[in-house]
Amino acid sequence: MEKKNIDWSNLGFGYIQTEKRYISNYKDGAWDEGTLSGDATVVINECAGVLQYAQTVFEGLKAYTTDDGHIVTFRPDLNGERLEASARRLEMPVFPKERFVQAVTEVVKANEAYVPPYGSGATLYIRPYMFGSNPVIGVKPASEYQFRIFCTPVGPYFKGGAKPLTIRVSDFDRAAPRGTGNIKAGLNYAMSLHAIVSAHEEGYDENMYLDPATRSKVEETGGANFLFVTKDGKVVTPKSDSILPSITRRSLVYVAKEYLGLEAEEREVDLSELEDMAECGLCGTAAVISPVGKIVDHGREICLPSGMADMGPVTKKLYDTLTGIQMGRIQAPAGWIHVIR
Ligand SMILES: *Cc1c(COP(=O)(O)O)cnc(C)c1O
Repeated sequence: MEKKNIDWSNLGFGYIQTEKRYISNYKDGAWDEGTLSGDATVVINECAGVLQYAQTVFEGLKAYTTDDGHIVTFRPDLNGERLEASARRLEMPVFPKERFVQAVTEVVKANEAYVPPYGSGATLYIRPYMFGSNPVIGVKPASEYQFRIFCTPVGPYFKGGAKPLTIRVSDFDRAAPRGTGNIKAGLNYAMSLHAIVSAHEEGYDENMYLDPATRSKVEETGGANFLFVTKDGKVVTPKSDSILPSITRRSLVYVAKEYLGLEAEEREVDLSELEDMAECGLCGTAAVISPVGKIVDHGREICLPSGMADMGPVTKKLYDTLTGIQMGRIQAPAGWIHVIR
């Protein structure tokens, strides 16, 4: 298969239209068989449920080329499971996870020319999403839905090395107690936009959100979970019902325990504990881990001992091991690598 003529290592993180997308429609209580389409345009009624009441959920994962030339995705079954949970919470029909993995496989195969070569640092970002498509004016769930997956090639997240981020403790919340913080829904992002724009205006890279009930515990950023390394070398990740269960974070905790022999615990992390941390990183599909160098809580500045020049040593080991597993250089746990071709 001839690759597209794209300057892979200079790609940014933007939308580039590829040839095929997957589409399945839900009507009269059932999903149709699904198809690949060349049409990148969605046509829906002006009163569609998604447009009026934001009934939409999504996922994000990547396909890439391993060092032995296979095209693979990383733990897509977990994305399928999470989309099922997100859909249930918003009263949407479940698109079964087995079909989800099959659809991801089909759409990546159909866009093989856009899967970046090994070593370029670029990947094919895969965006599955689902939305209420029929007219809804009284507040209730839609009765018809569309599930789609498109792909877009994206560049290496860190061009010229991972620069540690400066983040601030936000005065806004991203989720409500017992709300929708634990599902991947567009509505959580809509409400984070003002907070991130104002963080950027004030010179911060990201917001640290606190638990919405007491505002005393660390939750996550707008699109990534936290991972801390304590000064005595323990990996700690915040536990909360309003955090999105990141697949990257769960995989890193497994790697910490099973590959690196580190102690790891998921527990509540109090804001006052930040001074005890040696390293801090943000975990998500896009960057795997972005190191954090400084956290600003209003007047209080916490400078992580790992500094502003590089990733901390434990973060770096975690990053190298997980990306090594993903790229086929290190033996993966059973079921983590889904081979597409
Ligand atoms: C998608 C997402 C993450 C990261 O999850 P991954 O499965 O690791 O990509 C973290 N937090 C939020 C709010 C997210 O939407």
